[in-house]
Amino acid sequence: MHGMRPAWACIDLGALRRNYRRICRQTNSEVMAIVKANAYGHGALEIVRTLKEEGVRRFGVAILEEALQIREKFPEVTVMLIGPTMPDQAERIVAEGIIPEVFRLEQAEAFSLEAEKKGIPAILHIKVDTGMGRIGFQEDALENILKIAQLPGIEIEGIYTHLATADEIDLGFAFTQLKRFDGLYESLKTAGLNIPMRHVANSAAILQLRDQEYELCRPGLMLYGQLPMNHWEGENGFEPLMSLKARIVHLKKIAAGDSVSYGRTFIAQAPTLVATLPLGYADGLRRSLSNNWNVIVKGRYAPVIGRICMDQTMIDVTGIEGVEIGDEVTILGSEGKSSLTAAQMAECAGTISYEILCGISQRVPRVYIDTSQIPK
Ligand SMILES: *Cc1c(COP(=O)(O)O)cnc(C)c1O
Repeated sequence: MHGMRPAWACIDLGALRRNYRRICRQTNSEVMAIVKANAYGHGALEIVRTLKEEGVRRFGVAILEEALQIREKFPEVTVMLIGPTMPDQAERIVAEGIIPEVFRLEQAEAFSLEAEKKGIPAILHIKVDTGMGRIGFQEDALENILKIAQLPGIEIEGIYTHLATADEIDLGFAFTQLKRFDGLYESLKTAGLNIPMRHVANSAAILQLRDQEYELCRPGLMLYGQLPMNHWEGENGFEPLMSLKARIVHLKKIAAGDSVSYGRTFIAQAPTLVATLPLGYADGLRRSLSNNWNVIVKGRYAPVIGRICMDQTMIDVTGIEGVEIGDEVTILGSEGKSSLTAAQMAECAGTISYEILCGISQRVPRVYIDTSQIPK
């Protein structure tokens, strides 16, 4: 687009549609699409709009601000907060009809109070800690959940837990967690409390624990076309949505012995053609990729040289025919036969693809395309 920053993330909503349909073929449970952290950096509103067209009715976010953003634009969808809230947020949550998770009695009491005050029910899901060790009721679960069910104005719609090792080869602990969860659910039933919705599965569990099907599942990463584990050899047609692109803004020849960027960590061994890209670690191109990543220029790999700066990065384009200022470079994504995945970038940067994706910062403009729609 004319006048736009010459660094951008291209997001393919067609790939999102195909990934979603692929997930539906993996599970019989209803999908609650996880769109926290701005839909893992892809832009929550565009992702929700597209998935809504595909029939998704329920979306999960981590914080109240994210829930409100979706609620405002799409009042007809169900928004669930799969993260902790404080009692002083109860008023807003009940007023907006957002579904919170509850893992302390005080939270439920605050929701109950607000529900009574407003004369509307507070619909909530109970979070159980079966081994993640983060949030959720533990041994105290049965007693507390039965108490919560007695509170005025409260409707317990769901109960859920989160698995700590669903992405591992050894699923022993995941099954232990499921057993605890099922056990609690049965005890609640015996005590006369029937909770209509159960959910457990993140992306990894949808793939690896297929026989465990509850009413809802909670895929995040897979929607965005990434796999949560490297060892997976099953269904693997998921397509990454995001590519990161930039244009070359400067081009120069340097001589043997000349250095590039802070700290002079790159010294040319021979005459070298250096291109400068207008993005850096403030955009999410992690500094640990300095001298440690390749980008794609004219279908060929070109190494990042020297330290990545806050707003600029240099690459070596020596020997690539016809490189010019203004040429488009792929930092993440594919171009012809060459491709660079978030998983590869994560491996080089010593992290996971989740952190790469949600680390692409707000100042990188998102450009949306939809390859499922026939161009006019
Ligand atoms: C983030 C999150 C998910 C989604 O996990 P993915 O691995 O991205 O599929 C599901 N459930 C909870 C509770 C989460 O916090």
